[in-house]
Parts: sequence; structure tokens; C-alpha cells
Amino acid sequence: MKVKKILLASLITLSFSTFANEADAAKKLAQEVPIADVHRHVQKWVSPELLKQQMEKNNVRWSGAVGAPFGPFDTAPYSRLLKNKYIPTAGQVELSDIFGVHGAAGLTDINLRTYQELLESADKLFLSGQIKGFGELILNNKQSNPNVSFRRKVKIDSAPIDAMFTIADKNKGFVQIHSEDDADSIEELKSLSNKYKNTALILSHCLFTSNVELIRSLMANSSNIYCEMSARSRSHFPNPDSEKAKLWIVYSEDSVKPEWINLIEEFPNRFMVGTDTYNPRINFEKNIEEIRGGLLSNLKPSTIELVAYKNAVRVMRLE
Ligand SMILES: [Zn+2]
Repeated sequence: MKVKKILLASLITLSFSTFANEADAAKKLAQEVPIADVHRHVQKWVSPELLKQQMEKNNVRWSGAVGAPFGPFDTAPYSRLLKNKYIPTAGQVELSDIFGVHGAAGLTDINLRTYQELLESADKLFLSGQIKGFGELILNNKQSNPNVSFRRKVKIDSAPIDAMFTIADKNKGFVQIHSEDDADSIEELKSLSNKYKNTALILSHCLFTSNVELIRSLMANSSNIYCEMSARSRSHFPNPDSEKAKLWIVYSEDSVKPEWINLIEEFPNRFMVGTDTYNPRINFEKNIEEIRGGLLSNLKPSTIELVAYKNAVRVMRLE
């Protein structure tokens, strides 16, 4: 009896210490693993040199995958300096221009010259390596943008967006879309993912949804749907304790919602990370701390690597 008890006690101690070791190993890996930041807007206040410095300091190996819609607009100087560590895309600046001139209605009008020029040049841009995909295409942000005049909700599977998928499909590119989780928007996203099964559809900010069941069913039904987790951390919100922010926030520098960890572990090949520094108030370093300390450190070591960079490398064909 006594021997049994001792045996049991030592077994418990052993499994506990294995667990503690694994948790320590995950924490360490989360701090050291390279990151692919797939939602990095380069803006007027971040020069190519500054971006390079920030990336090196924070072990961010790749950056971009969205546009520079508030200037500098042209991201070629970033590609020139960072070579294939900058992930160039098209579409965001064009959509932004169209929205500025024609309002939301323009976003679904494939005949507009801005769309025509983009669609005519896109194949060439893919071929020459000047772009890797389209994005960020902001098509439904009616709740999620703090600036009222920037909000819109339009049909997502409209002619111009469908045409971008056709081109991305042909060139093994990706499409990154910012939408919220309205039922009609979800149906439109599903329709595009079904029509273009070989093209990665990356959901910016994982739809800003708090409904993990929705993401679970989208991912279970479509093998080409991915989530990137930018703007889902505490520091992104000026008022993180508001009811809306509490729903949207998934992780902070030292915590994460367990239902999201379960979801990510269920689909470890479908999640990526990003910082979304869309205005100067967003602290890049703080976002990286939150990604490492809150989100990544609570995953299994193999999942940490996938979410931190391996999924992006595979899907965006980075090198
Ligand atoms: Zn963005």
C-alpha cells in the first residue's frame, strides 16, 4: 500500500514536472521564434530603414501582406531594401482611392478605370515578383473602424473581387480580406473560397468575431480559409475595457482566451500573426510582445512555429 502511494506520488510529480518543462519550453520558443508579420502597413512614419531596424530588433523575418493606403502608397522602396523579406501586395491603395472618389458603391464597379488598370497589370506584377497577393481588401468594416467616414459594407463576391481571385488563382497568390462576421458577408466569403479552392483566402483580424464556432465551421468546410490575428490584442484598443473591445480582444501580453487556443490547436495550419500598425498610436513592439507572450507562448511548440511563420511561409511562398 505504502509503495503504491509513493509510486503514485512520484508519477504525479513526474508528469507535473514534464508539464512544467513543456510550458517552459513553449515560453522560451515563443520569445525566440522568428515571426512573419502578415498585417504590417508601412506608413509615412515608418521608413524602409526604420522597418528594417524594427524587424531585426524583434526577430520579425517577413513583413507586409497588406498595403500602404495612407501613404507612402508605393511600397517598392521597402521591397528594394528588404528584398523578399517584404511581402508586397496590390489592391488596398486602389480600393482606398475608389472609396475616396466614388464611395462604397464604387467598390463593386469593375468598370472603374482604377480597377481596370489594376486587373490589367496584376498578372505582370505577380510574374515579376512585385506582388505576392491582393490585400488588404476592406469590404465590411462597418463596426470595426474607429473612423466613421472610413466605414463601408459591400458585397464581397462582386465582379472586381472575383476577378482578383481569378488572377491570384492563376499566379498561386493569396487574397487578404477585412470583413466582419455578418451572415451575408460570411456567405459571400464562402462562395469565393468554394469557387477558388486553391487560392488562400486570409481573413484579416479573423473577422473581428468572438464566435469561435463560426471560425471552426468555416475552417472545417473550406481548406483554403486562413485567419490572421492582428488587432486582436489588448494594446490595440484605446479603451480595452469597453464591452466591444472585450469581445474582440483575444490576447494580451500575458493572457489569451482559452477557446481561441483550442481552436488554433484544432487548425494549427490555418493561423498567422500580424501587428496592423494602421496609425502611429499602435505600438509595434508592444504588439510583438503580446503575440509572443500571450498568444504564441500558450500553444504547443509545433503550433508556435506554424502560427509564428511556417504557415505564412507555405501559403505566401516566402523565402
Ligand atoms: Zn489593416
